[in-house]
Amino acid sequence: MAEQKRDYYEVLGVSKTATDEEIKKAYRKLAKKYHPDMNPGDKEAEKKFKEASEAYAVLSDKEKRSQYDQFGHAAFDGTGGFGAGGFDFTGADFSDIFGDLFGGMFGGSRSRGPSNGPMKGSNIRTSVRISFLEAVFGTEKELTLNLKDPCPTCNGTGAKPGTSPQMCPKCGGKGQVVFTQQSFFGTVRNVQTCPDCGGTGKIIKDKCADCGGTGYITNRKTINVTIPAGIDNGQSVRIREKGEPGINGGPRGDLLVEVIVSPHEIFERDGFDIFSIVKISYPIAVLGGSVMIDTVDGRIVYDIKAGTQTGTQVRFRNKGVPTLRNKEIRGNHYVTFVVDIPTRISKEAKELLRQYDQLTGDSLTAVERAGNNKPQPEQEEHKEKKKKRFWEK
Ligand SMILES: [Zn+2]
Ligand SMILES: [Zn+2]
Repeated sequence: MAEQKRDYYEVLGVSKTATDEEIKKAYRKLAKKYHPDMNPGDKEAEKKFKEASEAYAVLSDKEKRSQYDQFGHAAFDGTGGFGAGGFDFTGADFSDIFGDLFGGMFGGSRSRGPSNGPMKGSNIRTSVRISFLEAVFGTEKELTLNLKDPCPTCNGTGAKPGTSPQMCPKCGGKGQVVFTQQSFFGTVRNVQTCPDCGGTGKIIKDKCADCGGTGYITNRKTINVTIPAGIDNGQSVRIREKGEPGINGGPRGDLLVEVIVSPHEIFERDGFDIFSIVKISYPIAVLGGSVMIDTVDGRIVYDIKAGTQTGTQVRFRNKGVPTLRNKEIRGNHYVTFVVDIPTRISKEAKELLRQYDQLTGDSLTAVERAGNNKPQPEQEEHKEKKKKRFWEK
């Protein structure tokens, strides 16, 4: 289908016995020269770039190179080029580029913009548990965590002292690769983070022994976190520039500390309002009286009105949770009074309660009385009659 393909060694301008290094160097030169970004709209340059990339993909891979040396282009099914059913780059250096080509056509490209400049480091997420009252009034917490720092031996370059990182040949130091292809849909430009250098634009040949070439070492650090008054369960505190170190001199990422608030024994929270239930005795509900109420500011004495019903709710203004923006502005505290029904009382108390009942409507015998219109002495007789009637039926 395609035109006659040029020999890969010829494309890169190297001999058949060229070392890996020579091949890399040759490709780097060509890639820089014919990179589509450097030659916008130049079809010839684009073709040359693709040709060189294909040659490099094969010759930089030991196994593919040996296949190519034995069988030539036929080693790769003979159709050649990048057409349908063509060259398979899986496993090659370029798998990342070509593997994503179709995804890039229909979806978005994975580009994250110019990526070899200073970039902010990644954010780190962690969590801290605090008490209900700590959330209400704010607190300071000490966190101990492992943080990456630039390696002092190599100054964060990752290169062995005395050496320095080399410009990445694949992307020419740009940190990203642009692949342009003619397709059924028109010209497709796919910008991706360089798979070789991970977007840094640099390749480290001699790695720093102290950090293994990563440029970072891990230090255990203690960080003080100021948790503001009013924070709620699940919210996070952001500590600027305590995350992962930046790339290429960029600022550190942030540390995000999620706050987990333990439930309180008495108080419940909804937004900035606090809710609690206070049990009151029956005599206090009936007669009125003073009760102690717990609030987040401490205990207060409250006078209950005579005749307070169970379930009555009262509001204590500004006794709730401070708002995050202004500590002075707080939610309310709502207290629901519930009449406490004792399950065990003394014999004497029971007797007095029966007497009390007789004085206040005789509720204990109300049903009995309702089912018997006749005077008490006839009650037994009436019951007998009822029984008989039942058996007679
Ligand atoms: Zn180092
Ligand atoms: Zn690169």
